[in-house]
Amino acid sequence: MKSTVYNPFETARQQFDHAADLLELDNTTRELLRTPMREYHFNIPVRMDDGTKKIFRGFRIQHNDARGPAKGGVRFHPLETIDTVRALSMWMSWKTAVADIPLGGGKGGVICDPHHLSNSEQEQLCRGWVRQIVRNLGPNIDIPSPDIMTNAQHMLWMLDEYETIMGGHFPGFITGKPTGLGGSLGKKESTGYGVIIAIREALNELGLKAANTVASVQGYGNVARYAIELYQKMGGKVICVSCWDEEDHKTCAFRKKDGIITEELDSISDVFGGIDKHKARDMGYELFSGNEWLSQEVDILIPAALENQITMDNVNNIRDSVKLIAEGANGPVSPDADKILADKGIFMIPDFLANAGGAISSYFEQVQSNMNYYWEKDEVLGKLDVKMTSAYAAVSDFAKENKLSMRDSAYVISIDRVAQACRERGWV
Ligand code: NAD
Repeated sequence: MKSTVYNPFETARQQFDHAADLLELDNTTRELLRTPMREYHFNIPVRMDDGTKKIFRGFRIQHNDARGPAKGGVRFHPLETIDTVRALSMWMSWKTAVADIPLGGGKGGVICDPHHLSNSEQEQLCRGWVRQIVRNLGPNIDIPSPDIMTNAQHMLWMLDEYETIMGGHFPGFITGKPTGLGGSLGKKESTGYGVIIAIREALNELGLKAANTVASVQGYGNVARYAIELYQKMGGKVICVSCWDEEDHKTCAFRKKDGIITEELDSISDVFGGIDKHKARDMGYELFSGNEWLSQEVDILIPAALENQITMDNVNNIRDSVKLIAEGANGPVSPDADKILADKGIFMIPDFLANAGGAISSYFEQVQSNMNYYWEKDEVLGKLDVKMTSAYAAVSDFAKENKLSMRDSAYVISIDRVAQACRERGWV
């Protein structure tokens, strides 16, 4: 069967158009919000360890900053495309709005595969990325953060480059920094924990207890890892995870019917969330092709790897046992597959609500950085819970009042907030 190719920006625009129709948004506001405010495309030269020079392509897109400085991650990925970055920047605008934090939406990326780059090459990429757009970044302009295959070390190199050029300390320039160097406690857990806080609220509505549920997770990176941690603390059981297998260049799923053990998998995984399959097999995990994470007999599915993972090609592999899907990743479900899931009666927590915890804790980190006063971890996680719970309640209440899906409700609330800020500023 020929698989369908999805363009994430087309998906993001289709979702936007649908919500704009529901909101009866005027044409000028639609035009403003359908297209990013600003795009930067640039080359980053890097001296490779073998002495040769290589040019990498980098991007930064600021979709909308009417509600505050643009905010969003920087991804390092070999298959990065400008349309993926555009879609992700738009989703960031909706995410900061639905979480009701005073920030806009942005996203960045570099086409590269850090698996095959030394530390020195990665450092040059980070510094080069900042140098190309330094005047268009800053605590009051645009605040980057980590995303796929970027981490606290990358953020620190970027911060150091920014501070060297600008002369001074600007820890509010970037989030996801190492703790002790401007990072916030609780930051690394925040996206995954936020996904589970949203699941906790959804399970309450569905009359289910986490302790009586079983889940399968796509990914074993930052989002997936901490989602699993909090879900297990609440008594839930995860029987399957999947990840990219760099050795065979395909995905691989790992199953333990009694429940996966994070301490075991942590001891055999790399910084990119890849799990060593040979060691996993020795530890008693069953190994399958990567798509198998989707066809497990579970109550909850958490796609927490990449966009476009549940599509018309595989949506019918989802078992009837599944009651809830929480989109940990951005855009993991295609719009046509989304309709089938709704027809099946599966409750969906949409991406920019489910994974808003990362943006919320980034905001907390920026506040702490700007004050130069840092909160205890419990305080950060407590504030995260308050923000996630109230964002979830607003979306759920509006959905019920207006007979909308959770996705439509989240879109209508957030687009309305951004549109209102644009109107009040006199942009439309
Ligand atoms: P990560 O790089 O830490 O982990 C990604 C995981 O996905 C790894 O386990 C990797 O092996 C796996 N993976 C990669 N390609 C895959 C494929 N083709 N099939 C199956 N698995 C694959 O990334 P992350 O930070 O956990 O982000 C995951 C998703 O969540 C992304 O969509 C990202 O944009 C989104 N997100 C991340 C954050 C955050 O705070 N990190 C916040 C919001 C949204």
